[in-house]
Amino acid sequence: MNLCEVSCALCGDAPSSVRFHEEPFTVRTCDSCGLDYVSPRALDLIESVYDATYWRSDAARRKGYSDYAGDLALQRKTFARRLRGIEPLFPRPGRVLDVGCAGGAFLLVMLESGWTVRGLEPSEPMRAIAEERLGAPVDGSDLMLFEPGETFDLVTLWDVLEHLPDPVGALRRARSWLAPGGRIVLETQNVASLAARALGRRWHHYKHEEHLVHFSPTTLSRALAAAGLRVTSRTTRAAGKYVRLDFLVERSGRLGPWATRALAPLLALGNPVVYINPLDEMIVVAEPL
Ligand SMILES: [Zn+2]
Repeated sequence: MNLCEVSCALCGDAPSSVRFHEEPFTVRTCDSCGLDYVSPRALDLIESVYDATYWRSDAARRKGYSDYAGDLALQRKTFARRLRGIEPLFPRPGRVLDVGCAGGAFLLVMLESGWTVRGLEPSEPMRAIAEERLGAPVDGSDLMLFEPGETFDLVTLWDVLEHLPDPVGALRRARSWLAPGGRIVLETQNVASLAARALGRRWHHYKHEEHLVHFSPTTLSRALAAAGLRVTSRTTRAAGKYVRLDFLVERSGRLGPWATRALAPLLALGNPVVYINPLDEMIVVAEPL
């Protein structure tokens, strides 16, 4: 894997303090703005991180998902719950662009609700799945080069911003794709949450190959402002996910083998679906300044 040293995505060349090392990566905090970010970080992300093994990984605790495409029913349930929080913002269904749409689960939910949908997904294996499910082409260009040729009432970035080398640049582009009155809705993990602070380096969102930045409510507002956007609401409600119990057991291994041992006997119940919300992710609605 190729690595590169980077500086703060919000203020450029400011000095930083080391939070912790996990070879070959280091998590740092910018001394100027407080943004947490990984440097050195992986280069060539599309080739080296988001290949087919990312979506069906044997090591999902460290990187990727154990079977992303197989989780469609649960993802739809999760997004249907999130849509209930977003829908009141819009007088009627409009046009939505989902940036990083993965297998298209959110767009399927939006289609059913009467929206006109468009997806952007640079990872080829996932894009093919989304296209098959949606029965429509999905754009595969680099977000920083993408030219949609139309505007949208809603641009969504679910679990996307933390993966991007230039989050402010990406938000600026997303803003330029908004129709008058349009909004950006994004979800990202909150490094200032109780769970993140209590778990320290064992926090399950420290996955250094893919999570390049870790926002707090303060640094996320700064990033949005730098992109010409302001936060109109921020919530942890509906930021949870429906998962199968075996997913929870697998991820709990990050806490230590004791956690897996404690939870594994519950699998005798038959791997039920559970809704988990550790309140360590935030859903933010933003509009142009
Ligand atoms: Zn900074």
